[in-house]
Amino acid sequence: MDSGAANEAKVNLYRLNREQLDDFVTGLGEAGFRTQQIWEWMYSQRVERFDSMTNLPRATIGKLKAKAKLGNLELVANQQSRDGTEKRIFRLSDGQLIESVLMPYADARMTACISSQAGCAMGCVFCATGQMGFGRNLTGGEIFEQAMIFARELAARGERLSNVVFMGMGEPFHNYDASLDAVRRLMTRLGIGARHITVSTVGLAPQIRRFADEGLQVNLAVSLHQTDDSRRSELMPINKRWAINELMEACRYYAEKTNRRITFEWASIAGENDTVEEAHRLGRLLAGLLCHVNIIPLNPTGRYGGAPAQAASIKSFSRALQGHGVSSSVRVRRGIDIDAGCGQLITAVSNGAPGL
Ligand code: SAH
Ligand code: SF4
Repeated sequence: MDSGAANEAKVNLYRLNREQLDDFVTGLGEAGFRTQQIWEWMYSQRVERFDSMTNLPRATIGKLKAKAKLGNLELVANQQSRDGTEKRIFRLSDGQLIESVLMPYADARMTACISSQAGCAMGCVFCATGQMGFGRNLTGGEIFEQAMIFARELAARGERLSNVVFMGMGEPFHNYDASLDAVRRLMTRLGIGARHITVSTVGLAPQIRRFADEGLQVNLAVSLHQTDDSRRSELMPINKRWAINELMEACRYYAEKTNRRITFEWASIAGENDTVEEAHRLGRLLAGLLCHVNIIPLNPTGRYGGAPAQAASIKSFSRALQGHGVSSSVRVRRGIDIDAGCGQLITAVSNGAPGL
């Protein structure tokens, strides 16, 4: 291992696009065709070390080791749950910590749940990340690298990362450009299809419209959790800025523009939003919209007193929604024994959720 300073000075190759990598490689005095070889080792073979790039001469590998590195995220903790969920904590170069999670499914899907920010500025009261406050935006490279690291580990055991969800720490649309940059890299460098990527938002209406205009087939999830403005504002302060009406208008715009189904996230909280009456209000709000509801029993967090809804109320809730022609599925929490997360590290076992 290098000293910290030596490592800092190295160029992180994951940050470079093809052209920049070419400049870097020729800058080392290497022939241009080496760029393609290195690119393939990085993104097709997904090797972790320059030593594994076996068709490169020893001297080239030596230069790469001296001047470059594969990744900037420093692993500080690694936990594995009984259900196969793996959680990672990474330290960024300025000391901020972020979390990423990998969730294997019985049908062979491998989903990475990645962070878009260190902390979050949105302050949703039930969310551990919201309770933590805002650290900073991640760069597109830092967002992408979380998935890259999982892809690399999976490749080493002959497996493939199939899906990515932006449901870790942070609000991706509060860091729009970097999140979209990461989405594009996932598609072009890791070959993950847009339909296998999901961006989840707290409901930033202007960015939902902007996202609709991108012309991407990426899935959109919207965290709704309440149908009443004053109660939603208590749970999710951003509702004071973009109220339910404006949010729904943006969602309708998205559905019309993209013809894609929106997933509405519903953290089901006992006594707060789990009654049949509430399900009818939600059903009326969503009726006719191309959508699906993911019901997530609340994951209790330190500074929020709420409890998860009971299975029986969730069942009645789901049935009432069905009466309005609105489909739903219930998600189970993953990695409970390793406390996998920010409250977001829960996921769909049912097949209702696109991209998950
Ligand atoms: N900021 C984005 C994405 C990250 S949060 C968003 O809010 O959508 C991912 C999902 O986890 C959101 O639907 C969020 O509301 C939900 N979530 C956060 N804390 C939770 C908790 N304690 N229990 C259940 N769901 C939670
Ligand atoms: Fe931020 Fe999403 Fe947590 Fe709200 S739920 S505080 S938007 S990470």
